[in-house]
Amino acid sequence: MKRLVCWMVAASFSATAYSQSRGPSPAVLYEGERLITGDGSAPIERGAFVVQNGHITAIGSQGAVTAPAGATRVNLSGKTVMPAMINVHVHIGYEGYSTWGAQNYTPQNVLDHLQREAFYGTAATQSVGTSPVDASLQFQRDQEAGKFPPASRFFFMPGYAPPNGGPDQVLRVATNALHVINEVSTAEEARSSVQMMAGKGIKNVKIWVDDRGGTYPKMTPEVYNAIIDEAHKHGMMVHAHATTLPDQKAVVRAGVDVVVHMVQNAKLDDEYLDLLRQKKPYWATVITLGDPTAVCEHDPFFEQAMPAKVIAKIRATTERRPLAPSCGPPSPNAARREETLAYNFPRMISAGARIVLGTDTGIEPGHTFGSGEHVEMARWVQLGLTPMQAIVAATQRPAELMGLKDMGTLAVGKRADFIVLDANPLENILNTRKISNVYLDGARFDREAMLAKWKKADATQ
Ligand SMILES: [Zn+2]
Repeated sequence: MKRLVCWMVAASFSATAYSQSRGPSPAVLYEGERLITGDGSAPIERGAFVVQNGHITAIGSQGAVTAPAGATRVNLSGKTVMPAMINVHVHIGYEGYSTWGAQNYTPQNVLDHLQREAFYGTAATQSVGTSPVDASLQFQRDQEAGKFPPASRFFFMPGYAPPNGGPDQVLRVATNALHVINEVSTAEEARSSVQMMAGKGIKNVKIWVDDRGGTYPKMTPEVYNAIIDEAHKHGMMVHAHATTLPDQKAVVRAGVDVVVHMVQNAKLDDEYLDLLRQKKPYWATVITLGDPTAVCEHDPFFEQAMPAKVIAKIRATTERRPLAPSCGPPSPNAARREETLAYNFPRMISAGARIVLGTDTGIEPGHTFGSGEHVEMARWVQLGLTPMQAIVAATQRPAELMGLKDMGTLAVGKRADFIVLDANPLENILNTRKISNVYLDGARFDREAMLAKWKKADATQ
């Protein structure tokens, strides 16, 4: 209760209404750039598009697109423009950089994480299973009403687990304090809770099925079948955390819409591949978990938004990767894990699993919101996707999964959420990191102001 009061007080911290380009605004013509529209079609080598009132009103080849009278012209020759990304799987709110846990879960901190996502080019961010429902609904309403400064759009879904099940211990301690995880042990409890969520207008739920190597209680088929059935009756989607082959098979067979994680300890068999061919679930790979180990290589792309203390801590941690954000040696299982990944990944894809961007950032301290997206995409390309396929999986497909009809691609009528890059990511996926500018709702996101804000916070920590 005390926490809730804190939240309500904090939620009113901003009396200012941020326009976020809501009112009428003059048209802007962006021209000369290489245009990657996000739908998988070939890029337009010299493109142009018009943005007005936060939306794209014309798009095509330079010369074929005419700007309305009085439009501002922005020359983007030599640049590449792609849609802003959409991340379907993160854990927002608990990271405080000098501290971790429920005490950090305030609207300001949620906003800070969403600004970090926006800084790195993500226009919509979905927190999965670990966000308090009523406070999150309030945040969404406030954000839609323009009460916050520009940031990635916030989405969330409630999570279900057996009593004492659910997320990793670190996140469990944090979420317990806010009573966030919906613990259900019977089909009846599950159904009535899903009905209650449907009544609040919620469109997605997450289930944790895993027993984490026998250390956690496992969700029974009776319970997950009830959740899936009830959710589908209400037009809701179910995301399933299931990391072993038998569990993934079981939940896909039961009809989950989104499989989270990748089976890393067993090679996929024909039975599962047949199931994938029939069901074609969405698949949030979350392979890299926002891997911050690039910090070990002093990569400024990651370091720029990371507090110095966190960087120092990662560098000083010698625990084996990837068990912790660390600069320690790779785990002894790393080579075998890699081999299994290399075997399973292309098979998931060719069987028809519909890959979408998710990073799991925020599951434990020391991850950087936003940069993880770029790591995940690079991993996909390493494992066999083309850069174009990776971009579609980070833009159009997550928009389709989340029902965001006005996001995900660059086309007439869509929100003008885009990234301007200094180099072509189709030549090298690492070029998604060469960010010149990020635009949300047609307005330039002030990345320099963000860096200044984070530097200042860093200095006082
Ligand atoms: Zn997760």
